[in-house]
Amino acid sequence: MTTLTRLFSIVFFSLFALQAAAQERLNALQLLSDIKILSSDAFQGRKTGTNGSKKAQEYIIQRFLDYKLMFYGDGYEQPFSFETSNGTKINGTNLVGYIEGTSENKDNVLVVVAHYDHLGIKNNEIYNGADDNGSGVAGMFALAEHFVKKRPKHTIIFVAVDAEEIGLKGAKHFVNNPPVPQEKIALCINLDMISRNDKNELYACGTTHYPFLKPYLEKNSQKHDIRLKYGHDIPEEKSGGQQDWTFASDHGEFHRAGIPFIYFGVEDHKDYHQPTDRFETINQVFFIKATEMIIDQVVNLDENLPAIQVEKMKMKQK
Ligand SMILES: [Zn+2]
Repeated sequence: MTTLTRLFSIVFFSLFALQAAAQERLNALQLLSDIKILSSDAFQGRKTGTNGSKKAQEYIIQRFLDYKLMFYGDGYEQPFSFETSNGTKINGTNLVGYIEGTSENKDNVLVVVAHYDHLGIKNNEIYNGADDNGSGVAGMFALAEHFVKKRPKHTIIFVAVDAEEIGLKGAKHFVNNPPVPQEKIALCINLDMISRNDKNELYACGTTHYPFLKPYLEKNSQKHDIRLKYGHDIPEEKSGGQQDWTFASDHGEFHRAGIPFIYFGVEDHKDYHQPTDRFETINQVFFIKATEMIIDQVVNLDENLPAIQVEKMKMKQK
């Protein structure tokens, strides 16, 4: 081996090692690309029943196909409709894909939800909804990518939910018409607004309702350079003024059905439900760290899903 080829092979080997290490971790460029695209003007704020929503659906379907997610029935679409308070009929579409678990036990299923709808256009201004909730959908894709490479023990269903902003309509439809028997759903993980926080804090909401979930979250919370906080899940008058998020997003419909949930999200910020909730105003570093932590948490929750299902059944009997 000449010096030159030796040098060449060392460089080559290091490149491979780097690449292998990187593959174990989050695909951060993909994560940022997903949120940037979903919150671009082309999607017109992704309001339920609009052309912008249709475009978002096409993008999400393409991303599900990229990971070869399986589907129930003849496609990812789960259409539904509802009436607004003034009697207007609106059509919505959830997108549902799944990765089959490797375990013999097929009775415990984990559902990951992230709503893709937002507020659309008001007074000629596009509400791009980058944090709310391009971030959660992009985070859900990152989870799918992880579990496609490293299969989960239990089946994970991924739901890009529609019509959250108009009152959790898509989540309600999914919970009442699940593709597997409802009792098999052991846990719901909701991602809604995970891309920015000035205090470097991410909330895991729901442990007051389901205290048995907290030790699983604690196990991994210290490994990350971001603070995992609990709370926002008791009535405001009891918490000293902290908002109660129990029914603030899609996990609320799972909770109503007695399905335990963890909702990952941040506190409201100045751009919340404003046209300024754009790709430019998210915190990319926070978003990457939050998503890495969520992946770790879901890996651990998947491994412990049978015990979670037992606790869920115990609560239901009470
Ligand atoms: Zn939201």
